[in-house]
Amino acid sequence: MTFGIDDLPVRDELRGKSPYGAPQLDVPVRLNTNENPYPLPEALVERIAERVREAARDLNRYPDRDAVELRTRLAEYLTNTSGHPLDVSNVWAANGSNEVIQQLLQTFGGPGRTAIGFEPSYSMHGLIARGTNTGWISGPRREDFTIDVSAAERAIAEHRPDVVFVTTPNNPTGNAVPAETVLALHDAAQAAKPSMVVVDEAYIEFSHGASLLPLLDGRPNLVISRTMSKAFGAAGLRLGYLAAHPAVVDAVQLVRLPYHLSAVTQATALAALEHTDTLLKYVDQLKTERDRLVAELRAIGFEVTESDANFVQFGRFADSHAAWQKILDRGVLVRDNGVPGRLRVSAGTPEENDAFLDAVREVKKEQNT
Ligand SMILES: *Cc1c(COP(=O)(O)O)cnc(C)c1O
Repeated sequence: MTFGIDDLPVRDELRGKSPYGAPQLDVPVRLNTNENPYPLPEALVERIAERVREAARDLNRYPDRDAVELRTRLAEYLTNTSGHPLDVSNVWAANGSNEVIQQLLQTFGGPGRTAIGFEPSYSMHGLIARGTNTGWISGPRREDFTIDVSAAERAIAEHRPDVVFVTTPNNPTGNAVPAETVLALHDAAQAAKPSMVVVDEAYIEFSHGASLLPLLDGRPNLVISRTMSKAFGAAGLRLGYLAAHPAVVDAVQLVRLPYHLSAVTQATALAALEHTDTLLKYVDQLKTERDRLVAELRAIGFEVTESDANFVQFGRFADSHAAWQKILDRGVLVRDNGVPGRLRVSAGTPEENDAFLDAVREVKKEQNT
């Protein structure tokens, strides 16, 4: 018998658990992690190399601990794209929005406190809650994956969570949450207990609707988290950020590790932010492909959830894992998020999407015979 995790004195709440892991398989068409399928444009790659070379000359020193220049540029990007004025004091950045969420839970959750999410939703919210010893409450969703406001309000009143997560557009289902719903949940959360409401807008650039950034006005307990991993096509960079009242930005600095954002990360992100137009160039094309996936999947006879993101949830399958395997056998990797009877596919290049559609057409035919 070999020595394993269970032989170590790990925390009780981690025993028997498995780590987050979308399979990273080497197959021709990978449409399972909602990445942008297009590599960065060459001009941007050159600019990154330039800025990183400059940063390398100072690597004997710690980086700017407060990432002031980067936060200033992120605030400008948010202001320019939403029309809602924000400045450096409203913005905080970290290594991916997952780290932003971890810092929020370290600050506002923790032992003896709870967080709620409306599931199925982004599984990392619950996993980061567990990692920070924050109790996790799985809130309800309707059969059609929309949030039932009265049921959600009741759950908040009953559990009085310290942190409320709302993902819009939601992952893995794809549907956006209306602003009125977010406002109702925010008000319910404030009535139950002054708690933080975290709106995860990882996919907002792909949405038919607008960002909820204007809701920050007059709501110091509201936080909007964003990432450069999806629409910006920079998942490998690891850069996430939040917009909120300056007091929230002050609060998360109580838990952030000193110099958490390396000089190389800051230089790379700054180079990327000089090129937001080129970075976001593919968003319109991906939205068109997303809409095509929805239409064609429906034409094939699948049940498809409305999508405001760069991915589409489809079904139903009697056994979604078996269907996932059949699609994989045809060289296409999609995602089985554990939502019964459903799978999720990320919008890829037109050629990748064609390959996917050919594969599911065959699987559907088999299913029907
Ligand atoms: C992909 C995703 C993120 C992004 O995480 P990063 O750490 O920024 O790569 C955050 N929230 C949701 C809902 C996601 O799907």
